[in-house]
Amino acid sequence: MGLREKEFLKAEFSSYYKKHEPDYPHMIEQREFGFGFEKKIDFRHKRFSTHKELWDYLITNAPLFCSYSVAYYTAPEAKPMDAKIMVNSDLVFDIDVHGCTSHTNKFVCESCLGKAKSDTIHLIEDFLVPDFGIDKKQISVNFSGNRGYHIHVNDERYMGLGQKERLEIVNFLNGIGIDAGIFCEHGPRVESPAWFGRIAKCISKKLESGAIKTTKRHEYLEGISKGMWSGICESTWFYREFEECRKSLAANVDAQVTTDVHRLIRLPGTIHGETGLVAKKVANLERFEPLRDAVFADDSEVEVEITGHVPPLAIGGMQFDEINNKKARLPKYYAVYLIAKNAARLV
Ligand SMILES: [Zn+2]
Repeated sequence: MGLREKEFLKAEFSSYYKKHEPDYPHMIEQREFGFGFEKKIDFRHKRFSTHKELWDYLITNAPLFCSYSVAYYTAPEAKPMDAKIMVNSDLVFDIDVHGCTSHTNKFVCESCLGKAKSDTIHLIEDFLVPDFGIDKKQISVNFSGNRGYHIHVNDERYMGLGQKERLEIVNFLNGIGIDAGIFCEHGPRVESPAWFGRIAKCISKKLESGAIKTTKRHEYLEGISKGMWSGICESTWFYREFEECRKSLAANVDAQVTTDVHRLIRLPGTIHGETGLVAKKVANLERFEPLRDAVFADDSEVEVEITGHVPPLAIGGMQFDEINNKKARLPKYYAVYLIAKNAARLV
């Protein structure tokens, strides 16, 4: 990104912050903050004792990236990390999408963001609430500002967990260590709790729909309703179908984010410097569309020069065709997005 583009973004970000406060984390004075002007985090170990102090900092400096610690510290500004003295740490999950076939990894589309959204709903509705007994009111969802969502659990029972315990949670969510042998010994029914019930339901559905080819369909379904898996567990198809169900039902959370109790994570209500999208706290996830709801600039025209290939994109409620290596007059919200992505420069 050139100097002019950087100045342009800085001015836009700053005027956004003048009108919008970020979402302040609970107990701001115990959090460590980190900021990025070139990289995601150029410096950290910063502490703010009041909301106003942080807000002023954002308006004055308009950083490209702003993140805060999931941990609460006695002395968040102290160095090295051990000197901060950790009190406890929020439980946070990160869900991202990668590897869409309709564009390069530099961009996202409605379909990949839709996948991130349904994965987030799956994590909350099928795991956090039923399996972990977490109250929905204690779960908040933030758009990450780029290709997914951050799910924060504000439940004191989980705040004291260390790295090892958090890894166990991640493995459970991602279906690691769910064993077909133990499943068969256990003999679950479709209404059994957690993983065994989910997999029983999945296999039962596959039998009902004919996705599993067998002449003993009725016999098997009858057995499953009583928790009897003999015959099924000995079938040649069983292990393959079990694995397919396990993989398709996994929550796909990023292990590194959840297990790192010292992690700095995007502050909701701040702009992500690689996209120019606001990392918004989401009130209604079903209805939230990042590329429509998280743009912040207006639609006044800006002339830019596109460098390289930009795939077709729906942003700001408008549909744009693909653009290749040429000058274009675009609404400012789209120009901000392409400049932040390093796909355009000012003319
Ligand atoms: Zn996509």
